[in-house]
Amino acid sequence: MPNARILIIEDDRLNLELAVDILEVRGYQVLSAENGFRALRVLKDTSIDLVIMDIQLPDFDGISLCTEIRKDPSYAKLPIIAFTAHAMKGDEEKFLSAGFTAYVAKPIDTRTFPDIIADCLATSQGAPRNPADTSQE
Ligand code: MN
Repeated sequence: MPNARILIIEDDRLNLELAVDILEVRGYQVLSAENGFRALRVLKDTSIDLVIMDIQLPDFDGISLCTEIRKDPSYAKLPIIAFTAHAMKGDEEKFLSAGFTAYVAKPIDTRTFPDIIADCLATSQGAPRNPADTSQE
């Protein structure tokens, strides 16, 4: 899904810029929002294929914002990836059970990050990613 539209919700400029750069190089359309209210507006105005969300935003915690996004039936199955600097034991389970699709710890691992995104997009399309397909690499 090389033309997928991804929304990154992140209030830290450096983390945001790094994530945007990595994804744009892969050919994704990337939108960003620095807080939850702006993110909700973007999601209302634009069709988004995947969300990457910092879980500590100025106006929302990640779990509340994830719940808010999922209230829109068209986003019930939207892949939402928790993006967090606070990788503690049990965190991954906590975020997955709160409705997140996946979990990415900061700082970004630039090698594995694009694969996690590609896998989440492929799964949401109901088409398992073909490891032999290198056309998107
Ligand atoms: Mn933050």
